[in-house]
Amino acid sequence: EQTIDKIAAGEVVERPSSVVKELVENAIDAKATAITVEIKEGGTSLIRITDNGCGIEAAQIPIAFYRHSTSKIRKVEDLVRISSLGFRGEALSSIAAVAQVELITKTPEQFTGSRYLIEGGKEVSLAEIGAPNGTTFLVKNLFYNTPVRRKFLKSAQTEAGYVNDLMERIALSHPEISFKFINNGQIRLHTSGNGKLKDIIYHIYGRDIAANLLEIHAEYEGFSVDGFIGKPIIARGNRNFESYFINGRYIKSTLIAKALEDGYRGFMMQHKYPFTVLTISLDGTLVDVNVHPNKMELRFSNGEILYQQLAALLSTRLRESEL
Ligand code: ADP
Ligand code: MG
Repeated sequence: EQTIDKIAAGEVVERPSSVVKELVENAIDAKATAITVEIKEGGTSLIRITDNGCGIEAAQIPIAFYRHSTSKIRKVEDLVRISSLGFRGEALSSIAAVAQVELITKTPEQFTGSRYLIEGGKEVSLAEIGAPNGTTFLVKNLFYNTPVRRKFLKSAQTEAGYVNDLMERIALSHPEISFKFINNGQIRLHTSGNGKLKDIIYHIYGRDIAANLLEIHAEYEGFSVDGFIGKPIIARGNRNFESYFINGRYIKSTLIAKALEDGYRGFMMQHKYPFTVLTISLDGTLVDVNVHPNKMELRFSNGEILYQQLAALLSTRLRESEL
């Protein structure tokens, strides 16, 4: 069972940022309104994630670490769960298989909290402890028992950069949640959770970009698009400034990226990559969605309509703005 978990872990846990992604998504699912992520040495020695969400009942804790164990109801068409569809109930077991994990958690209904230790997939202890409502995960010494995987990691600085990038995108996808990201004791990101996407864009990208945005609101049959795109003067040389979310999840999609870029290019040939922060809400009737288990790449079985509408939306909005 431990060997299987280690193998499964390879699918879910590629590097520190994958641990952060899974645990932050769990915190979001737990209805947290404030989430703090702290890492040391790129997340290899320590990842600490604290949320003020619903917590986990003591009796449920060991079960949550079983493979394929999930408290969340899943339907194929439950697109809210899109980015973790490939990892049904696999995150905690996978992370615990390749690290030393400490969990402190308390539900509002319980008088005391719980502290659970699990290392390399082996339960070490479960005890009562005083704790605030919510959950803290400490993930120490990632890949300590899989040295080959550890060797594939990049420098601490590069790994920290991946986590930083992820935290920025997650913060952009949830303006209503306050996020704090601390790297080696320094606060790198701190959003207020006031629900204003533009404030977060300002905070992350600065004044020049925030001052040159066009707001997007559009509704179609089966989907809607909200957010901001940059005016052509802030077009960028690569895709790092294209963020898009589907039903609140940070994903990647060649089809969506191409729609945004083609829509932009239709307006101004010389600018290839737009600045975008867009949330696309799909009701599930328009497309079938498949997620590759170890990537965030999303595939649409019939994305033609989405592609055309998105591209047209961008070029129309850019043209209007110039009038
Ligand atoms: P999944 O998210 O697919 O259900 P995970 O392995 O990520 O699977 O988590 C297993 C279970 O642990 C979740 O279904 C949830 O019940 C519980 N859980 C994990 N993290 C949290 C958290 N931060 N707050 C509350 N419950 C949590
Ligand atoms: Mg999860």
